[in-house]
Amino acid sequence: MSDDSRTLSPDEAFEVLGNETRVAILSALGGADEPVSFSALRDRVGMADSGRFNYHLDRLTGHFVRNREAGYELRRAGERVVEAVLSGAVTAAPVLERTEIDHPCHFCGAPVAVRFREERVEVFCTECPGTYSRTSSPDDSADAGKAAADGYLGYHPLPPAGVAGRDPAAVFRAAWTWGHLELFAAAAGVCPRCSAALDRRRRVCESHDADARDADARDADGGLCDACGRRYAVAVDLDCSNCIYEESGAAVVGLADSPALLAFLLDHGLNPLAPTDETLPALSAAYNDFEESVRSTDPFEARFTFAVDGDELALTVDDDLRVVDAERR
Ligand SMILES: [Zn+2]
Ligand SMILES: [Zn+2]
Ligand SMILES: [Zn+2]
Repeated sequence: MSDDSRTLSPDEAFEVLGNETRVAILSALGGADEPVSFSALRDRVGMADSGRFNYHLDRLTGHFVRNREAGYELRRAGERVVEAVLSGAVTAAPVLERTEIDHPCHFCGAPVAVRFREERVEVFCTECPGTYSRTSSPDDSADAGKAAADGYLGYHPLPPAGVAGRDPAAVFRAAWTWGHLELFAAAAGVCPRCSAALDRRRRVCESHDADARDADARDADGGLCDACGRRYAVAVDLDCSNCIYEESGAAVVGLADSPALLAFLLDHGLNPLAPTDETLPALSAAYNDFEESVRSTDPFEARFTFAVDGDELALTVDDDLRVVDAERR
């Protein structure tokens, strides 16, 4: 039995975890406050056959479990498995049907409605057509027309555990906070799931034509560009070099870690790391409703202007969407 930490190939890791007894062992260790002896652990898992139990425990020991003098305990990799399981495992699948909350649509100011589906909090406008972003919800593309007519505004990821014990407004706030914390790490080039380096690519729609800013001019396509299907011409793609994490979005996704943008928001009493019901509408508007101006494509230069309370922050970015100039007005 080796207690050395060793790395597993993805195939090995899936193989080791694909067994009920081993998952039960991880779960039992996850619920323990201190190291557990072999016999106590076997009792908790409820397996009479000591030899078979030893075999399964041995498969976990090294990468997921550590055997110390005081007993067995989870290594960090084992803790992460238990955390991932618990984030999705709640006693009953949470249901949050489409419910109106006190949060304004960033297009028209009418209240939005939220619902929980597929580990996402989806946001809809109760009055305007919303916007359908083909880049943010690729698996729903068959519903594109329907989604636009529904007032679909987008979604924030949230594990099922985030719904329990919260009212709809609190679910929305939790999802916004959770999604944006991921975004800060991703913008800084750190994968929010596995910490590996992210590859970052910038895309620009050459023939961009969107009217999303003008609620009256928007039609059933949500006012998005016919050529790229997005509201903004500049998009950023972030891809993990190690795991399956990927994120695409408007330029603001790549600018989230900008000190100038963070300082601008904080100076207006808006803390994007810990939004409240009072600050969320203005934070949401700042991130969703900025102005974009592509000033040159070769070399690439663009300016993004964010507004809060009538004050403006203009960020000029270079080819990598890094801020080269910040100007407050
Ligand atoms: Zn609206
Ligand atoms: Zn376009
Ligand atoms: Zn990753």
